[in-house]
Amino acid sequence: MCGITGIYSHDLVAPELYDSLIQLQHRGQDAAGIITCNEQLHVKRGMGLVQDIFEQRHMDRLKGSIGIAHTRYPTSGSKHSSEEVQPMWTSVPNGIAFAHNGNIVNYGELRAEVLGERKRYLNTESDSEMLMQLFADELFRQMGAGPAEDISDGDFFEVLCRSSDVLYSKMQGAMSAVMLIKDRGLVALRDPHGIRPLVQGERVLPDGTVDHIFASEDTMFYMLGYRRVGDVAPGEAVFISSDRKVYRRRLQQKTFTPCIFEYVYFARPDAMLNNVNVYRSRLRMGQNLGKQWLRRYPDIRPDVIIPAPSTSNTMALSMAKELGVKYSEGLYKNPFIGRTFIMPSQQQRRQSVRYKLSPQELEIRSKDVLIVDDSIVRGTTSREITRMLREFGARKVYFASACPPVLKPCCYGVDMPTSEELIASNMSEEEIRIHLEADLLIYQSMEGLIEAVTRKGNHQIDSPCCACLGGSYIHTQKEQCSCAF
Ligand code: SF4
Repeated sequence: MCGITGIYSHDLVAPELYDSLIQLQHRGQDAAGIITCNEQLHVKRGMGLVQDIFEQRHMDRLKGSIGIAHTRYPTSGSKHSSEEVQPMWTSVPNGIAFAHNGNIVNYGELRAEVLGERKRYLNTESDSEMLMQLFADELFRQMGAGPAEDISDGDFFEVLCRSSDVLYSKMQGAMSAVMLIKDRGLVALRDPHGIRPLVQGERVLPDGTVDHIFASEDTMFYMLGYRRVGDVAPGEAVFISSDRKVYRRRLQQKTFTPCIFEYVYFARPDAMLNNVNVYRSRLRMGQNLGKQWLRRYPDIRPDVIIPAPSTSNTMALSMAKELGVKYSEGLYKNPFIGRTFIMPSQQQRRQSVRYKLSPQELEIRSKDVLIVDDSIVRGTTSREITRMLREFGARKVYFASACPPVLKPCCYGVDMPTSEELIASNMSEEEIRIHLEADLLIYQSMEGLIEAVTRKGNHQIDSPCCACLGGSYIHTQKEQCSCAF
């Protein structure tokens, strides 16, 4: 999971790209980069948090009114490598900069094609670089020998569509991408299943001209003065030409299966993805979990519901309302410590739960406490929380997961643990309850989760991807996937 954005503005674009990355920082804290363009491409990339990478002297040389940016969460093959920081760029044809969110399942097959038949050089093991070179080569072939500037924007869009269609047909996996093509404009692509999000916005200037933005989430639109236009459709290609005209075409139409985990955990609550509001979907998750609790434990009520902060605050709030039970933020989370999910080692994770969560004794002592978490992945954090609550005098500790058991790794850009590390992959629900040292354990049903995401919103979702929760993988070439099944 990463965050991407692309902006075509009338002014210097680098400050807005920087602000956008800050608003996408929750999608990846491993590395980040910005590429802008005027007469040439200007690049700044680095490892770590956005605010630690970019200094004023870097911003000063990121010239131009068009640019793209990326903040990285390491997916397979890219872990902690500085060569693979995005955006990436290539000089043929035109000069293309590329930022990608997702993961390609048939990477090996396509890499062989890029290196062999297409005779392109690859500098890294990154699937994003491979995709960029595949696209660039196809664009080069489709454009023919003539100079690129001789082609009209309309004709260039036709070439772009043919190249994108080839890319969509060949790739298997998840790809939301923004591209800057020198002297031509800004491009947004989203794979035909729409697994990763990509939102579009525009800003009308006083003279009637329009600036354009694409981003993984619309979390920066309001602050930058953009209006949400909608989502880039699955299998669509959108091109903003140098005179700011919008060209768009849906090239392929397959089942629309966006990642359900975006709603459970990844996306910021104020985001609207695929026309579904993330905050409202989380409220519904808590509501459905509450209903499930009432059916399963009609005679048991906790004294208090406490979220395992902070994604699950919303779910816990609505579950408490459903059960008619007090909601309390009895675990305080230090906001200056990174999410445990993205820390590299198990040992670090075990140590950090107590480091970042501080229990409030008055909310816990002599109470039957129900902890609500967004999901249970390894179980390490959940067990530490249970132990902390007992140390602080909880009479009973119940545990609820707003998401069904996480059973399998993700092939589509989320750095999930392997099956061996996923607790639900190796234990029954009762074994997990014992392992967590909880008095009761309840998981959201798959129906409850899907209903929570798809109940409201003017969306076109056919059925969200739930592969890691026991659903089917969208693509069947498991043997070519780089994640461990
Ligand atoms: Fe999202 Fe899970 Fe599907 Fe990956 S496998 S795209 S995390 S729902």
